[in-house]
Amino acid sequence: MATTLTLLFLIALAVTLALRLWLASRQIAHVRAHRNAVPVEFSGEIPLSDHQKAADYTVAKTRLGMLNAATDTAMILLFTLGGGLEWLWQLSSHLFNGDIARGLALVCGVTIISSLVSLPFTIVTTFGIEARYGFNKITPKLFIADLLRGILLSAALGLPILALVLWLMAKMGSAWWLWVWLAWTGISLLMLVLYPTLIAPLFNKFSPLDDASLKERIEALLTRTGFASRGVYVMDGSKRSSHGNAYFTGFGAAKRIVFFDTLLKQLTPAEIEAVLAHELGHFKLKHITQRMVLTFALSLGFLFVLGLLIDAPWFYQGLGVATPSTAMALVLFFMAVPAFTFPLTPLSSLQSRRHEYQADDFAAKETDSGELIHALTKLYRDNAATLTPDPLHSAFYDSHPPAALRIAHLKGARP
Ligand SMILES: [Zn+2]
Repeated sequence: MATTLTLLFLIALAVTLALRLWLASRQIAHVRAHRNAVPVEFSGEIPLSDHQKAADYTVAKTRLGMLNAATDTAMILLFTLGGGLEWLWQLSSHLFNGDIARGLALVCGVTIISSLVSLPFTIVTTFGIEARYGFNKITPKLFIADLLRGILLSAALGLPILALVLWLMAKMGSAWWLWVWLAWTGISLLMLVLYPTLIAPLFNKFSPLDDASLKERIEALLTRTGFASRGVYVMDGSKRSSHGNAYFTGFGAAKRIVFFDTLLKQLTPAEIEAVLAHELGHFKLKHITQRMVLTFALSLGFLFVLGLLIDAPWFYQGLGVATPSTAMALVLFFMAVPAFTFPLTPLSSLQSRRHEYQADDFAAKETDSGELIHALTKLYRDNAATLTPDPLHSAFYDSHPPAALRIAHLKGARP
């Protein structure tokens, strides 16, 4: 049984890595092949130089992604079959007493090592690629301050939650997975409420939208669509990056609308209204609730499976661990599962793209679809997003339909 699991795990890892590399190389080839001509639909609005910048930016990011995929796979192999996790567990057992303290030490060790491995990628992305294409605004000082704040926050929130999970796993008998799920779901919902008011302000400044005419426009849209929220805020996204965005945060009565200051600079008031109408569409059509319910259902399923595996010696042996423990089961499971679920990524992408079309339909009904088309074109141009993705790469990963299809849909020619 252990040997079978090892074999299946190796096959899943190899298939996942091969798929990631193959899709990335297709994306690079496709974007390069279309580098020298702006697609006709955009030729009036997007200059060739911007199109070429988008192509080079996409290729640079995709290349780094290939290296990242290879590094991830190597790290997972070293942790599991390479004996890294077993070594960390032995070390934790020498240093700490009690299962919960040892479990916390194991998870911290794994988190610290994987963060150190991914840090160079973040640095190259931010100060290499993003800087080269003119998007990076973050200073090394702020980068380090963010890093430290992130570490303190994950320690302050993560350690007590993890201790609770390990305690439930140890004390709640064979139905522990149900208890962990209940605790996890409760904490996630609580975080949704606390995030906008307590956590996000640690990283950014939020000020109420003060542009009177824009505010009036937005409030008219909110009233027209019957949307209640706790206000419209502007976030100082420009201190980190010139990429623009808008989002909703919180849920129930604590909902807020947040615009990046960069987006407000890029778009006209009518375009901003259309973008907001699209986001409102996601709420009105219950996309956000559906995603949340699906996530909770899937985590219940995964925890149930872990409940079946946790007492099976072959589960540990098959993944390179000699000493079973609850914390180890948790770590092994979350390390091994993505290799098996990766081929299912297109299902989630497909569902997400369906939601995007529906939200676009909503925006077209509530505002002017022409304004949304203008806004999308500007956002593609200013964010150097490629207009010519490889169709297979896009079908596999993209949460949003390619620009040309989305605009064709908005124009009424349904793809
Ligand atoms: Zn959307």
